Amino acid sequence: MAARKKMPVRVWRTLYGETYHRKPTCEALGDGQRNAARYGHQPSSPEQIPLSVAMSAGLAECFHCFPPGVPPDAKPCKVLVEGAWVDGFLLKWERGSDRRWKGLVNYRREAGRVEELRDQAELRRDETSSRHGTIRT
Ligand SMILES: [Zn+2]
Repeated sequence: MAARKKMPVRVWRTLYGETYHRKPTCEALGDGQRNAARYGHQPSSPEQIPLSVAMSAGLAECFHCFPPGVPPDAKPCKVLVEGAWVDGFLLKWERGSDRRWKGLVNYRREAGRVEELRDQAELRRDETSSRHGTIRT
C-alpha cells in the first residue's frame, strides 16, 4: 500500500477577513462578508490560499472551522444525526468487525462536540469544501 501522501493544507480567506476558514461556505465567513458590507467594503469572494501563507499573514484560525481536537488536515464531511446531515470532520477510516468501513468523526452536537465511529452509510463527503477526489483517499 502506498504511503499516505500529505497534501498541502489549503484554507479560505476573504480580503478584509482576519481569520482563515476550512471552507468557503463557513457560517462565520458569511458573517464577515456582511460586516464588510456594513463598513462600506465591497464583499470579496473567498480565495483559497495555502495554510502557511495564511499563518504568515497573521490570520487567526476560525473557531468554527478549526475546533479543538481536530487536526488542520482533517476532511470536512457530513454526519447523519437524527435524520439530518450536520457538519463534521473525518479523522480516519477503519474496517469494522462486520467488514464495513467506519469513519471516526468529530462533529458538533448540542453545545459541545463528540467524537465517535460512524458507519459509512451515515457519512457523506462535504461537496462544498472538497472538489477533488472522494472522501476516502
Ligand atoms: Zn470558518
